[in-house]
Amino acid sequence: MASGTAFCRPSERGSSSARMPIPDSGTFIESLALSRTLPCLAEPGRIIVIAEPSRTLDEVLPFVAAITPSVIAFNPRAGTLTLRRQPGFITLYRDQAIITQVKDVAEGLDLLAALRDLVNQCWERRGSVQPATETRLAPRPLDVWSLLPRTNCKQCGERTCMAFASLLLLHKRDVDGCPVLAQDADFTDRRAQLMALL
Ligand code: SF4
Repeated sequence: MASGTAFCRPSERGSSSARMPIPDSGTFIESLALSRTLPCLAEPGRIIVIAEPSRTLDEVLPFVAAITPSVIAFNPRAGTLTLRRQPGFITLYRDQAIITQVKDVAEGLDLLAALRDLVNQCWERRGSVQPATETRLAPRPLDVWSLLPRTNCKQCGERTCMAFASLLLLHKRDVDGCPVLAQDADFTDRRAQLMALL
């Protein structure tokens, strides 16, 4: 498996022995074909990869949302699912896949192959997994900021807590980069909430 494809490991999350296995697992999609690339504005020098699945993804998205640990947002009504990868994001729509912050086309093709495998693995497990049905929203900078000490003390090296919050969301900084959070026992709960949120 190519580097940066850790998003592809399905977990046991969402498993339910209450559902009977469905026979004939099969392959859900044969391919995710690269259709075009764009410059990545979030990370100059990198690209955004856009691909088309060989079959619309509506049916499989609830299973991907239930099983994959890196899911950060899911909207079952709109049929959109976002996964975090390091770095960047993957968003699946019914008829499109978008991967941000990709190094080059070669890495994009590796990521698309891994993403195709993830989709197929989730589909194969559909008989023993409860599909996700609830909307899950991605955390916003304000959500992260509200859990920081909000003193703008600059000990983290950033000018403001909001700047630090934005970098946390992009996974360019770690929670423990804020020494107040890391060392002050009064912030133990908030630190734990942040770890769970991110
Ligand atoms: S060290 Fe923590 S409290 Fe201080 S500015 Fe950075 S994020 Fe805010």
